[in-house]
Amino acid sequence: MQKRRGLLKLFVKKFKESMGPGRYHSNGLSITCVHCRHDKFEHGYAQLNTSLMTFLNLDFANKSASILTCERCGYIQWFNKEVKRY
Ligand SMILES: [Zn+2]
Repeated sequence: MQKRRGLLKLFVKKFKESMGPGRYHSNGLSITCVHCRHDKFEHGYAQLNTSLMTFLNLDFANKSASILTCERCGYIQWFNKEVKRY
């Protein structure tokens, strides 16, 4: 029983690490925060399909963008291409 609990703990820790803040690169360049120069971000997606975009005749922008939120200062950077995690 003791051993099983240990394994479960390890799994949860690994899972958290893979979902937690990490370093990313885009187009072969490391991404750093433009505000504080930190290099760890929370990754997420944002749907750009808004009525404002359609109103402005920017339907080409109606897709999901990658957003990286700086772990340290919270600055959000938007990427219209897929960013890759190291
Ligand atoms: Zn920052």
